[in-house]
Amino acid sequence: MSTAPHVKAPMDEFNPFQAMAQRFDVAADRLGLDEGLREVLRTPDKELTVSIPITMDNGKLKVFTGYRVQHNFSRGPCKGGIRYAPDVHLDEVRALAAWMTWKCSVVDVPFGGGKGGVICDPRQLSKGELERITRRYTTGIMDLLGPDRDVPAPDVNTNEQTMAWLMDTWSMHVRRTDTAIVTGKPLALGGSKGRTEATGRGVMIVTREALKKLGLRPENARVVVQGSGNVGGIGAMLLAREGMKVVSISDIYGAIHNDKGLDVPDVLAYLKQHKKLEGYSKAEHIPSAAQLELDCDVLVPAATENQLTSKNAERIKAKLVVEGANGPTTVLADQILERRGVMVVPDILANAGGVTVSYFEWVQDRAGYFWTEEVVNSRLEHVITSSFASVEETARKYNTSLRIGAYILAVGRVATVYQMRGTYA
Ligand code: GLU
Repeated sequence: MSTAPHVKAPMDEFNPFQAMAQRFDVAADRLGLDEGLREVLRTPDKELTVSIPITMDNGKLKVFTGYRVQHNFSRGPCKGGIRYAPDVHLDEVRALAAWMTWKCSVVDVPFGGGKGGVICDPRQLSKGELERITRRYTTGIMDLLGPDRDVPAPDVNTNEQTMAWLMDTWSMHVRRTDTAIVTGKPLALGGSKGRTEATGRGVMIVTREALKKLGLRPENARVVVQGSGNVGGIGAMLLAREGMKVVSISDIYGAIHNDKGLDVPDVLAYLKQHKKLEGYSKAEHIPSAAQLELDCDVLVPAATENQLTSKNAERIKAKLVVEGANGPTTVLADQILERRGVMVVPDILANAGGVTVSYFEWVQDRAGYFWTEEVVNSRLEHVITSSFASVEETARKYNTSLRIGAYILAVGRVATVYQMRGTYA
């Protein structure tokens, strides 16, 4: 890909909303959108902050804070996950909601974008406390939700159990079992086959497509995966199954490295048993920061935001970065990687497999008819490969990076729909 137009450096390199807005502005410039329309598309439609009082296991009351942001519903109900983390903040949730709008648009599923978060540290909470937080948070944001309004899903530190509690809380309020209120549910409660693996599977598919563009064979590709959760862990396993050599994986405490290639299923089995990589004997242990700078062909940041920055981008050795996480590369790092000729498959395409199968889950719940895993996976394959091709074609047409190509495609589709609908007054 050739050089993108200059993206102005954000005032704060680590503010995700500014990072989203900077890239949005470049796409809007290239599309020639007028200032008013840009303001509409940049601004979240609704933001709700709720306090969540919980009786802790020790009998004491504690108040947590939760958010739900709906960015844009022009193309359909808002869609996006809920994350639980101690450092959740409103600007982050805003950025993540906007990224969901662009992500759903890139893969052309009929949803807008939303995101939620609760400031808490799930590692310090019991299952009962987590359940009470989830139920009270759901009740707090209930007026925004609905299968035709806003449909949550799992994200960082939430899972199918969290979604089951959310679905039950909503269903108790509406007096019927309403499975389409949330996606990423357990299979027995109206979940979809293939949903748990979907984000990792999407990461694998775009990596395979990008390697073709770079003229690299999968069996010659050495891959470093940051993270080992739903995206990183499953992504690593599927990449290894495609014949790639996964040389490093990490958890929140540190990374493991073996230049001959890790036995990924063995690493994941160890993690499941011990909850951390510490003590794993078939690889060397290295610090998290050093992992990103390892000698490799493909780097998959699949953990959290702001991992590739102006501080380390010069030292990244990968030829290809595939963003399993949302927002792992800062705007300044993008510029450095681009100058150095590193191809970056952007988050809004690379991790869109999850929301694509969420869409399939929502369709199945509403139809009351469930698909086989083969059908889910082959439809996912089709959506991701054709979206990759459309992003690549847009990037080529506008002579820009895959990231800006993805934004141009996504923002253009939302702008067209907004203009067709017009402004209600
Ligand atoms: N949390 C995931 C994401 O960031 C999935 C969202 C969804 O399925 O609605 O894409």
